[in-house]
Amino acid sequence: MADSNSNVLAFTKHDHRRCKNAAIKAVELLCEERKLRLTPVRRRTLEILLESHIALGAYEVLEKLAKAGFGEKPPLVYRALGFLMEQGFVHKLEKLNAYVACVEPNRCAHPCFLVCKQCGRVAEQSVPKVSKQLAATAQQLGFSTATSVMELSGVCAQCPTEKS
Ligand SMILES: [Zn+2]
Ligand SMILES: [Zn+2]
Repeated sequence: MADSNSNVLAFTKHDHRRCKNAAIKAVELLCEERKLRLTPVRRRTLEILLESHIALGAYEVLEKLAKAGFGEKPPLVYRALGFLMEQGFVHKLEKLNAYVACVEPNRCAHPCFLVCKQCGRVAEQSVPKVSKQLAATAQQLGFSTATSVMELSGVCAQCPTEKS
C-alpha cells in the first residue's frame, strides 16, 4: 500500500479500524510531545469524528457526545473541537460547516479536501506546490492570509456519477 498517499484511503476500501487507531495513536504521541492533555471529552470528540471519513456538523458531534454520557452542552463540543483544530488533529470544512478528523496528524501539511457529494466522504490530499503558489500570490498582493481552506466538491471514483 502506498504509504505516502494513504490519505486518499477515504475513497477506497480499506481497513478503517487500522486507519482510526493509527490516527488516535498519532494524536496521543503529539499530545505527549506538546505536553497537552487529551481529556476524555477531547478524545471522545476525536473518536466520533474518526468513526468514518464523513464530515460531521458540530451538532451531530454533540448528539454523539451526549449519547456517550458527556451531556448536551454546546460549549463543551465547541471547546473540544477548538482544541483539536488548533492542534491540527481535526479540520473544519468551511463550505459544509463540518468537521473531519485528520488521518495523519503527525505529518499533515498543505491539505486539500476532496469532498464527495454522493457518499459524503472526505479525502485529504497534501498539495504543497499549490499552497506555496497561493502564499506567494497573496504576498505579492500584500494580502495577509488569516485562513486558507482548499476544498474540491465532486464525486469520488467509488460512487456512480449521474448520467443523462
Ligand atoms: Zn479510514
Ligand atoms: Zn463517494
